Amino acid sequence: MNIYGLTYEDLENLFLSFDSKKFHGNQLFSWLYEKRIKDYNEITNIKKELIKQIESKYSINRLKIVNVEKDKDVCKYLFELSDKEHIEAVLMRHDYGNSICVSSQVGCNMGCKFCESGRRKKVRNLEVHEMVLQILQIEEELGERISHVVVMGIGEPFDNYDNLVKFIKIINHPKGLAIGARHITVSTCGLVPKIKEFSNLDMQVNLAISLHAPNNEIRNKIMPINKVYPLEILIETLKDYIKKTNRRITFEYILLKGINDSNHNAEELANLVKGMNCYINLIPYNETNNIEFKRSNTLQIMRFYDILKKNRINATIRKEFGSKISAACGQLRSKKEDL
Ligand code: SAH
Repeated sequence: MNIYGLTYEDLENLFLSFDSKKFHGNQLFSWLYEKRIKDYNEITNIKKELIKQIESKYSINRLKIVNVEKDKDVCKYLFELSDKEHIEAVLMRHDYGNSICVSSQVGCNMGCKFCESGRRKKVRNLEVHEMVLQILQIEEELGERISHVVVMGIGEPFDNYDNLVKFIKIINHPKGLAIGARHITVSTCGLVPKIKEFSNLDMQVNLAISLHAPNNEIRNKIMPINKVYPLEILIETLKDYIKKTNRRITFEYILLKGINDSNHNAEELANLVKGMNCYINLIPYNETNNIEFKRSNTLQIMRFYDILKKNRINATIRKEFGSKISAACGQLRSKKEDL
């Protein structure tokens, strides 16, 4: 086990379980996230015996960064995990701050037809510390603060729910990485029971839904999860989520040429989400060598956008990042380049 997988409360409880004092939890948390120690020996205000007990259970090891690729305002980091698996995270520099796209699993089982990252089946969930360390280590490499996090890398975060929640608690904690909940976004392809659970979380974290289709017929073809939780159930669940949390949700909608990008599809989409507190992020598809889908042409993207606007739906066209270094949406791969 790794110490970066423990929340603030976990650390307090750990010291209590050693018949020691709770406040040491606070001290250790501060050593890890404020002073950024790399070795337990650096700790000066907790008794050596206690530290030894912790060390025997929890390593303080980091991930290995095995490759960094840089483009103008994007960097892609390839991490090696202790079992030699690989995951990627992407840093994006925005005018409002630095944002990281983190992975939540090694591989993914959702099987979306257009997604390159999902071509490798899930090998395992990421541990809490493996998610936390993606951020901590990139922040250190960069020497700059990370202000925003999107869980939109490899994997389906709601298929690793418990670890996801712990991860969010650690990075959000004011004495942890202090990333504001409103600056954290979790993206899901639509695991309905977990969306319900998420609505009870009582944190102001943003929810994004990979929608990508305006009706069941199209969605069934490109996203197998739709056969388990079809659109009417997904939309109803989201309406409940919005009511309960009073929060706006984001729909992600990739525009795939000839599949989901007609004017009629735009009208259907507008009808589907009408009246919901949401906005739609239109994503120009990133073409990859291995998958036959094509990107809609720019004129059609603009038409689609205009139809949503005419229907008074909030929409934006996503700024593209990192396609040159295969760091764009859906292009992250968990094994180097050999799949
Ligand atoms: N499993 C979660 C998290 C992954 S997020 C989810 O489905 O939301 C990654 C986002 O990139 C998803 O919206 C996904 O549908 C999208 N995506 C996948 N392949 C893409 C591609 N080639 N071009 C653009 N977006 C893509």
